Amino acid sequence: PFFQRAAFLSAAPDLAATPDDNGYEVAVAGRSNAGKSSAINALCHQRGLARTSKTPGRTQQLIFFRLDDERRLVDLPGYGFAKVSLSIKQRWQLLMERYLEHRDSLKGLVVVMDIRHPLTDIDQQMIGWGIAADLPLLLLLTKADKLKRGAIARSLTEVRKALSAASVPVEVIAFSAVSRLGLEQAQDQISDWLAV
Ligand code: GDP
Repeated sequence: PFFQRAAFLSAAPDLAATPDDNGYEVAVAGRSNAGKSSAINALCHQRGLARTSKTPGRTQQLIFFRLDDERRLVDLPGYGFAKVSLSIKQRWQLLMERYLEHRDSLKGLVVVMDIRHPLTDIDQQMIGWGIAADLPLLLLLTKADKLKRGAIARSLTEVRKALSAASVPVEVIAFSAVSRLGLEQAQDQISDWLAV
């Protein structure tokens, strides 16, 4: 019920513009086109909350959604942009690293990956920053509706194995914004981090 009250709070181009750092926050990251916006909309039971299919390389901002007075969900800028300049990439890297490292209210990091090609270099970089910041991780392997059961199981095993030595708790879930596979499990994990 608590996800259903999600509403846009603010957009921040840099850390100075982020809302007051108190309460509880969970951030959602993902490559452009991985299905991050669709996952956020599914989690919050709202079609148009996070914009889907954004043009890669558009102004990169952190989008804050209010869940209640002391809880927020944060849509981190998409990554994996082929067409943007090196300086924009470097700016993005610095912003992500600093946000993950210094945001006190941040209680967990969700990384959305296409189940058909998870753990790309840039995904691993994001996961590495999360681990360095000592954040528990929820890896959502989305678009699972596009794979058969055996292939879903193989992808889950591959990703779990790759993260088995991580120094933070890691949950890996097969997910679909279309079939809603894994939705409740993902909501439960996020609620847990938000101390709901
Ligand atoms: P974002 O760039 O990571 O925010 O990705 P979007 O949420 O905009 O999704 C990118 C594309 O993948 C869109 O065409 C979506 O309709 C599609 N998509 C997203 N999630 C799913 C899913 O779970 N299943 C399927 N089949 N398509 C999806």
